[in-house]
Amino acid sequence: MKTTAAPALDTRATILSVREVTKEFDVKDGLLGWSSVRKVKAVGGISFDLAMGETLGLVGESGCGKSTLGRCLLRLIEPTSGTVRFKGTDLTTLPAGEMRWFRRHLQIVFQDPLASLHPRMRVREIIAEPLRLIDIKGKPAAERASEFLELVGLAPEHGERYAHELSGGQRQRVGIARALVLRPEILVLDEPVSALDVSVQAGVLNLLEELQAKLGIAYVFIAHDLAVVRHVSDRVAVMYLGKIVEIGQAAQIYGAPSHPYTKALLSAVPLPDPDAERARQRITLKGDVPSPINAPSGCPFRTRCWKAEEVCANVTPPLGEIQPGHQAACHFPENAEGRVHDTGNMIAQVV
Ligand code: ADP
Ligand code: MG
Repeated sequence: MKTTAAPALDTRATILSVREVTKEFDVKDGLLGWSSVRKVKAVGGISFDLAMGETLGLVGESGCGKSTLGRCLLRLIEPTSGTVRFKGTDLTTLPAGEMRWFRRHLQIVFQDPLASLHPRMRVREIIAEPLRLIDIKGKPAAERASEFLELVGLAPEHGERYAHELSGGQRQRVGIARALVLRPEILVLDEPVSALDVSVQAGVLNLLEELQAKLGIAYVFIAHDLAVVRHVSDRVAVMYLGKIVEIGQAAQIYGAPSHPYTKALLSAVPLPDPDAERARQRITLKGDVPSPINAPSGCPFRTRCWKAEEVCANVTPPLGEIQPGHQAACHFPENAEGRVHDTGNMIAQVV
């Protein structure tokens, strides 16, 4: 199925164009001595644009393919198909050597800073290490490391320590400094605060916002719930079983969600207003996320959807426009008054 990508905010130039990216893993299926290889479709055809300096929140339950997609954008894992264009250059076809060079423009911060920081290097060396790629060594590298140590709110003495001697929040600041030291234009943040105590999450989120304002960097901000990315995202994409099921500006996603899955995720987010919070009704989804090895026919969400009808099992709904800049992949979308949706073999009037 071809999907059209929601445009980036049109006031800023597009820096990254992702089209129809898929990733299949081979998994061994062993039973009674027989073994066969089956395909897991972790990412099932993702398209979106990212504008310079923009934050796109990428949200979905564990296992829906967020990390796989994030890694495909940098080619830390090779996509099975699709294109990822950085300022017009298709990264997916670059020879490995050139890709390493391009990666200074796109960096990643992982969820677990301790696992991603070298245990026997001092913080200052960890931050300076990527600079070798662009041939900055010695004193200039040490100076750049000091600059970025300060930029992420750490003291010079933190530079002399090892990662295990720091707190979780401090470690994540080191991870951010290391990712920024090459002055990338895009940062993929893969659940950067999920492993941190709630009390330190806000500090790291504020830091990321400050850095974006200072450096004009674009973020792909991955999270497993909608609450975390609410205040940092310009736009939000909601993923389910390897696909974007809804994408739009943050105000559209939080204020007028269209896809039932988005509504269910949102119903789990506490509201700041006490009256609204008391009135909040939680939508509990039936069952678990199906395995990507045996994804349902038609709409991937239909097995858990309270709106599902026959058409949902037979026809995969494409991402269709709800409002300008807002798309949802549902046969019965909400907040799409008057939309007439062609479902292939029948016309459904959306109410
Ligand atoms: P998320 O980050 O949203 O939790 P992932 O991208 O980690 O999801 O995983 C998406 C799906 O792909 C899951 O079903 C996961 O089990 C599968 N997967 C991820 N990495 C591999 C791998 N290396 N081999 C096989 N399956 C994988
Ligand atoms: Mg993940």
